[in-house]
Amino acid sequence: MIKVTAVEHGSIAEELGILPGTELLSVNGRELEDFLDWEFLTADDEFLLHVRQPDGEEIEYDIGRPLHEPLGVSLEPPRIRRCANRCDFCFVDGLPEGLRDVLYIRDDDYRLSFRYGNFATLTNLKPWDVQRIIEYRLSPLYVSVHATDPVIRRWLLRNPAAPDVLAQLREFAGHGIQFHTQVVMSPGVNDGAVLEQTLTDLWGMGDSVLNVSVVPVGLTEFSKHDRCREPTVAECRAAVATVERWSERALTERGKHWAYGADELYLRAALPLPPASAYEGFEQVENGVGSVRWLQQQVLEGADQLRQWQGKRIGVCTGTSMGMLMPELLAPLRQASGAEFELIVLENTLFGPTVTTAGLLPGQAFLEALRTRDDLDLALLPGEAVNDDGLFLDDMSIAELAASVPVQVLLSKTFVDAAPEPAAA
Ligand code: SF4
Repeated sequence: MIKVTAVEHGSIAEELGILPGTELLSVNGRELEDFLDWEFLTADDEFLLHVRQPDGEEIEYDIGRPLHEPLGVSLEPPRIRRCANRCDFCFVDGLPEGLRDVLYIRDDDYRLSFRYGNFATLTNLKPWDVQRIIEYRLSPLYVSVHATDPVIRRWLLRNPAAPDVLAQLREFAGHGIQFHTQVVMSPGVNDGAVLEQTLTDLWGMGDSVLNVSVVPVGLTEFSKHDRCREPTVAECRAAVATVERWSERALTERGKHWAYGADELYLRAALPLPPASAYEGFEQVENGVGSVRWLQQQVLEGADQLRQWQGKRIGVCTGTSMGMLMPELLAPLRQASGAEFELIVLENTLFGPTVTTAGLLPGQAFLEALRTRDDLDLALLPGEAVNDDGLFLDDMSIAELAASVPVQVLLSKTFVDAAPEPAAA
């Protein structure tokens, strides 16, 4: 059963009398569990829909609709699948106490992997889930492989019951499902020869594995430092060398780079980032793979809009890792806009200085940095630092921050998204 939370005005659902609170029970006699069932079972233009109205009345609708016209209902969010693992490097374990409850949820949900590109380990799949992935052909999936050696992977995930991921991937691949994969690299565990084997195994799966990224493990002040550590410069360089060797091979044999190192891996290795052309379509940009090159492209493409900032003095707030890469972005930004940009690099006051990602900065860090900055026309904040409700990780809201500093603040993911639209000619 899925509950309707809203009905669009003038939609088919409104015409039928479906209301907020209506329970969608089944389609063509098949019970509905979540948004996946809803989307896949109602893909045809004719179907039988069985609902229970808020007053308890059950109704069956024989629906025939014009080609692909949406029914116009919003559904309650799915109950998130919890993770069955206990990775030593888990970010949730690295959280300080006292944050909002939702942040302590370890999610590992193949549905969100398909829909939003969240990485999932596939260690909590029930036979029914496997069936659905195949039946609905949920492709591509984003899979945290980490290591293809089952023993090492179980160690990394701290899950002795974790199934053999290669066998899982092969089964799905046999039904036409493809994967974006990642290896979170924990030094001394899944780098070196283990990484080589993992890449060899994934390569052996042919076109089913669309790409693989290698991301260095990231720890906070509160992580389990007695059990895992961050990689050294030499370890990151070795991983970059492995990735680039595979990338060259893939380009020669399959015409695509295929293996990528996260920006963070290059940063830690103190090596220059590959050019934009090495990232083909930026398929894992949300995973921090090619983010800087992608942003540079956005700046070039949005030059007209950025010119609206001409003559302004703009502060760019970011974390320490992006702070190191930001000069590569600020030069084209200055050129495109004619504005002055000041880089404001913030240390993470919530998780400790080892957490360098801009998206994990708390509201308080921005407040401290901007409290007296009335000399700026505008301050840009990383858009990913707030959730859908406009809250930073420390529960400060963007509105609260904006009211407490003497400069206009705007959230931005691409710079261009914060610049005013040019006036129509
Ligand atoms: S898979 Fe590991 S890192 Fe991810 S949520 Fe589960 S325990 Fe944490």
